[in-house]
Amino acid sequence: MNFLEEKILTDGVIKQGNILKVDSFLNHQIDIDIMRQIAYELKRRFRGVEVNKVLTIEASGIAIATMLADLYDVPVVFAKKSETANSTDDKYVALAYSFTHKKMNNVFVSRPYLHATDKVLIVDDFLADGQAVHALIDLVHQAGGEVVGVGIAVEKGQQKGGRILREEGQHVESIAIIDSMDWETQTVCFREQPRRKLEHVQLKTE
Ligand code: 5GP
Repeated sequence: MNFLEEKILTDGVIKQGNILKVDSFLNHQIDIDIMRQIAYELKRRFRGVEVNKVLTIEASGIAIATMLADLYDVPVVFAKKSETANSTDDKYVALAYSFTHKKMNNVFVSRPYLHATDKVLIVDDFLADGQAVHALIDLVHQAGGEVVGVGIAVEKGQQKGGRILREEGQHVESIAIIDSMDWETQTVCFREQPRRKLEHVQLKTE
């Protein structure tokens, strides 16, 4: 079991309606050590992939995206869900159904922050039906940029998003993939993932 699966088992709460609540370390209070480990693990899984921008959606993807972008030393852009009065920029706009809020949202990024030359790594906290990630892919494509990967903390594998994205040819990496969960017994089953390869570490010699 990896660090995130262990954290979900100890601190996650399963709610009726197929919702995993992880407010204590990801969605309300942020556990920096877990965020750092997620960022390092995503960087490792996308080794060799050229990235010049990390794109996420407000709000909960921002913490992971920021830590990952720090490792790449590239900017983070987050798609916004609501118009602000002071935003007069021209925008790329996409439509996404919100799984948690049960409504359609327009999500947007101002044009100056996405370019045709961008190689974008998309990041989010959860992947469920893939609405949020598809909207982000749409925004990148509107700008003429390239999506080089999709990095997710928790994929709910019992929902269709991950399968569809992989069938579309996207390189999707999820640190924890839930195959099933039951709110009555508070049990979660994780999908077996390829084991982490041991890195060769040069030990310091006297
Ligand atoms: P999707 O767009 O893939 O259907 O859903 C992903 C989005 O919905 C994520 O951005 C996440 O914020 C939210 N989400 C979906 N399922 C869950 C869940 O079980 N728990 C939490 N905390 N957020 C979820």
